[in-house]
Amino acid sequence: MRTAHFGRRAAAVGLVAWLGLAAPASASAAGFSTCIDSLKGQVVAQGVSADLAARALNGARYDEEVLRKARAQPEFKTPIWDYLGFLVDEQRIADGRTMMARYDRVLRAAEERFGVNRYVIAAIWGVESNFGQDAGDNYLPHALANLVCGGVRTKFFRGELVAALKLVDRGDLELNELYGSWAGAFGQTQFIPSTYQRLAVDFDGDGRRDLVKSVPDALGSTANYLHKAGWRKGESWMIEVKVPPGYNGPTGRRNKASLSSWGQRGVTRADGAPISGGAQAGLLLPAGPKGPGFLVFRNFDAIYSYNQAESYALAISHLADRLAGYPAFRTAWPTDDPPLSRAQRFELQRLLLAQGYDVGEVDGKIGPQSRAAIKAAEERFGMKPTGRPGGKIYRALGGR
Ligand code: CA
Repeated sequence: MRTAHFGRRAAAVGLVAWLGLAAPASASAAGFSTCIDSLKGQVVAQGVSADLAARALNGARYDEEVLRKARAQPEFKTPIWDYLGFLVDEQRIADGRTMMARYDRVLRAAEERFGVNRYVIAAIWGVESNFGQDAGDNYLPHALANLVCGGVRTKFFRGELVAALKLVDRGDLELNELYGSWAGAFGQTQFIPSTYQRLAVDFDGDGRRDLVKSVPDALGSTANYLHKAGWRKGESWMIEVKVPPGYNGPTGRRNKASLSSWGQRGVTRADGAPISGGAQAGLLLPAGPKGPGFLVFRNFDAIYSYNQAESYALAISHLADRLAGYPAFRTAWPTDDPPLSRAQRFELQRLLLAQGYDVGEVDGKIGPQSRAAIKAAEERFGMKPTGRPGGKIYRALGGR
């Protein structure tokens, strides 16, 4: 999910919050070429070949767009059901089953070697790059150079630039393959370069770690990531549960207790069946006690570490379950305005456009322009203006 990615893993996740605290010194187009010259020297000093540094950074232009994205504040809090509706829709489940069949041998080999469940590996692949279809189109050396020269987490992004170029120097990738998100996540698994350097594996045995073109390398590397993040072979990651009405007991991923003690607190499986046993799990109630509840295990934490967001880990966990043939959540989300799938988001934009609202590009991505159009349409129908791509406005516009 491109919009959710301020960069692969750990260090990049706090980016938006950080930017809110310290507005970086504005990079001017004038100072940019001086900065690039100096940056070339710095990456060479850190071990990148001079020829490669020149090829990567010659021709870099000041890019207002990258800096605008880096400085953007999230203006809209996505409800958990919209986030999941987008990431775990029927199309992604169907695509996932197709891709899992095509790469069955590779997925089983990765499961065997790293002990990580293959449905989870496939779910991450599906969410990160839509099974290799959408890995980002920003040229990394230039995007990262703009972040460095724009004063955005200079040290961090300079380190990522160095790591990216070292991948080229050591022969894993070609320079012209370094395309990804504006914040440096790239390839089919959307690793940032330092993570790539640390955890990517050559799983097809050709001597290179190619997470851009090689599906086996990408899937093997995701398995290795989860293995290193503490994945426990054969254990579960999440089960849907129900809590007693008005439950106000402990919650939280880190607040782990045995299944038996959750059972004593009145927590049951989603179908009402009792739970018991010694396995340690934490209770998540992402929409409060009236929505679906989840007991999450140590393996959920490994998934969490991939993107440091519980909503993300929930999406991966659920997509993995759906790919494995388990049903949708048993308990409904506490909303009367259900989320839209990706296909419905496209259709919503088409309907808005057809009825005279300016949504910008019809791309299925609900950005500021689409939100403004949704608000205007909601007002016309006498609905509360939320700007949210939900089922109510979709149906009001004629969507099915
Ligand atoms: Ca390889």
